[in-house]
Formats: sequence, structure tokens, C-alpha cells
Amino acid sequence: MNRGKGEWWDWTWNPFTGCNGGCDYCYARARWHLSFEEKCGPFKPIVWRDRFDEPCRKKTPAVIFTVSMGDFFDPGFCNGDRDEVLCMIGECDRHAYVILTKNEDGLLRYSRYLEAYDEDWPSNLWVGVSVTRARDLSRIHALKIAVPKGRRVVCFEPLLEPVEPDLTGIDWVMIGGMTGRQRFSPPPDWIKDIVFADKDMRAVVWIKRNAKAPAYLGHLRERPHEMFLWLRTAHRKQVLERR
Ligand code: SF4
Repeated sequence: MNRGKGEWWDWTWNPFTGCNGGCDYCYARARWHLSFEEKCGPFKPIVWRDRFDEPCRKKTPAVIFTVSMGDFFDPGFCNGDRDEVLCMIGECDRHAYVILTKNEDGLLRYSRYLEAYDEDWPSNLWVGVSVTRARDLSRIHALKIAVPKGRRVVCFEPLLEPVEPDLTGIDWVMIGGMTGRQRFSPPPDWIKDIVFADKDMRAVVWIKRNAKAPAYLGHLRERPHEMFLWLRTAHRKQVLERR
């Protein structure tokens, strides 16, 4: 697991890596190519069973970005493996977890599968879709069908063009630019349009440093209140257990 510095997550955890998607800006693939390809082969779906229990080794309650180096809902992973990861998330419940995907079909398929077996998403998991362009907006609709209210995230990163999203019923919004060689910072107007698209002002917002937020918004760095409560409760339980 790797520590996040000044990010919305405290740790990244990669029980799965790789993806069959072909996004030209893919940060995970570029990083894989530089650091892991020689030893582990191409950036294709791999399940790392020896990493499954890593969150249990972290004692302090934390926000864990799960599968930051791939796509959890890629068809290259099977539901049995996904179940095991969700089971670990439910078991190691002092942490809050976030999974982001660009694969809306995979997300919908898996949510139907959970429903068919009368299972729920773990209550300490937030699930989100990534939106980079207007053509990705249908992913938000899929998220609202697949994931219950209170646990929905939309990540506009890298934001590559202005978008007009419907953020009704969304709990957490992240906005960021593109890093690496094709570095790009979305301009203030694009960010403003997203923040004010949430008419009820219900969603909390995290603006990454690589996005140019309008000065009057500042660099919002909010985490959902429920997530904060989850971590605080876990922390208190630990303190009581130590007594
Ligand atoms: S879906 Fe995600 S992991 Fe897959 S290629 Fe696109 S950016 Fe990379």
C-alpha cells in the first residue's frame, strides 16, 4: 500500500491491477509501463491475492483508494474475486474505502449480481464513476442505479472539457486535472460549472491542486460527513478497546 500525500485518500491498495480499457491519458498504465512491466508483464488484469489482507495491517482508521492501478469492474476480473475484496472491506471496517470506475456496464452488472444474491455493498465503501468529457455523463446515471444514496462519488479527473452534469443524489464530487507529460489544468469556469451544477449544494467537493479553482471557491478539500463519522467511530472503538 502507498501513502497519499495531500490527496483525498490516505492509502492506495491494489488487490487488482490492470485494465483492458484504452484511455490515452491513463496514469496507471503509464506508471505500470515505467515501473512494473518488465517484471510483471503488460498492463492487463491481474489479481494479487497476497495483497488482500493489507488493510488489516494498517491499524489507524484511514481512507483507502481501492484499485488505483486498474479498474475494479473490468471484465478481466471475475465476480468471485470482487466478492472476496468486498468481503475484506466489510471485515476490516475500521477503514473507509473508495472504488472508482469508468466501466459503467461492469458496475451495473455487478450491482445486479449483488441484488440477485440479496447482498449489499459494504457500508464502509464509497463507489464512484470517473467523468472526463461530456460523452461520459451517462456513467452518473448508471451510478445512481447501481449504488445507494449516501455512498455515491463522481470524479471529474482528468477533466478535459466543460461538462453539465446532473449531480442530484451525488454525495461526493472530486475535480482534478491531468498530470505527466500531457499535463493540463481545467480552468476556473469549468470547475465553477460543476460545483454549481449541484443545485441543492448537497454534495461535498474535493478540488485537486492541479485544477485551477476560482479564487472565491478556494481549494475545497471536503470529505463526506458520513466518512468522517465512520473513521471517528472506528477510532473511538480502538481507544475503548485499549482501555
Ligand atoms: S479505465 Fe482507468 S485503468 Fe483502464 S485504461 Fe482507462 S484510465 Fe486506465
